[in-house]
Amino acid sequence: MISDQALHGTFRCPVCGHRDSVEVPAGGPARTVACSYCETVLEVSTRSPAAVHFVAQIATAHAQH
Ligand SMILES: [Zn+2]
Repeated sequence: MISDQALHGTFRCPVCGHRDSVEVPAGGPARTVACSYCETVLEVSTRSPAAVHFVAQIATAHAQH
């Protein structure tokens, strides 16, 4: 079953340690967000549908062309 529900939770920036809240589509791909503190572009994804603590990693794979 496909759901368009958004999961609301928090992530911690791996660069500066700032914690922020974000909504990520349930079951969707990682969402790209910028840290509101250091402005590093991060990919935030859910580890499981029930998780409220999201996984954030630096979005270095997306080079700008
Ligand atoms: Zn940051």
